[in-house]
Amino acid sequence: MTKPIGYITNPLVRHSAERDPGALARFARDPQTAMVLVAGDLPILRSGEPGTGLLPASVLNDLDGHQEQVLLGTLDGRPVVATLAAPDTAELFRNDPSFTVTDLRSIAVRGLVPAEELGMLAMAKSMLDWHNRHRFCANCGARTATAQAGFRRDCAACGAQHFPRTDPVVIMLVARGDKCLLGRQARFPEKMYSCLAGFLEPGETVEAAVRRETFEEAGIRVGEVRYLASQPWPFPSSIMIGCVGEAISEEIDFDKDELEDARWFSKDDVRRMLEGTHEDFAAPSPIAIANHLIREWTKT
Ligand SMILES: [Zn+2]
Repeated sequence: MTKPIGYITNPLVRHSAERDPGALARFARDPQTAMVLVAGDLPILRSGEPGTGLLPASVLNDLDGHQEQVLLGTLDGRPVVATLAAPDTAELFRNDPSFTVTDLRSIAVRGLVPAEELGMLAMAKSMLDWHNRHRFCANCGARTATAQAGFRRDCAACGAQHFPRTDPVVIMLVARGDKCLLGRQARFPEKMYSCLAGFLEPGETVEAAVRRETFEEAGIRVGEVRYLASQPWPFPSSIMIGCVGEAISEEIDFDKDELEDARWFSKDDVRRMLEGTHEDFAAPSPIAIANHLIREWTKT
């Protein structure tokens, strides 16, 4: 069976009605609460086969202090709270074999927690990262404070309310007949080619962004665009909008500032890349939606 795409499964029940002013204090003290602890940007896991990112609430007793908290929701009736701690807090756990300290990408790639927890960890990391970067009001510069159980920050000085952001990215498998267009950035692992991608701009439709990015990066014109699937990508807070586009031109003229290479691949090439048996080229990791987009295309 194909591995699920990383971060897409999130069984949390989100209760905006429960985000009352006392909710965080109430749930953070509740011994039933499951705690997601993130030190800087590293989730602290309980080790195991698999491990878990859901720790007992008492884990906070061992810390000197912590920063923002977010009531993520409930899981089978159990509240789940995410807590941000200073980056050096990770050192408290690093040498203890009952804990695992690593980045969220490695957690997904290595399958260190059940797939259902990855979405929760992604949500926690994106929310806490947003708090960390939005301690001051973008409108007036005064300090802001957590509200709505961590889903808003309020500025007492000017009354502005700030909401967590999600940054939309279009990612597309562009095909023409039985070949597809993949590109390679210099920072990619050796041999890896992947789908083209780029941020959606204000005032732009998803379809327009797919066409613009494909033309800017590879010089290829795209006609029909279809949405296929999406993936939260918590680095720090993107949503990858996976699309399939039909190329209406063939001659590649790639942007050398963005890409090291772009080329057409046959279905046979791509199948071997997905299997890991191609001598010259490799597919992106199964945790990435790009892998799923490429795989789905090979079935058409
Ligand atoms: Zn303000």
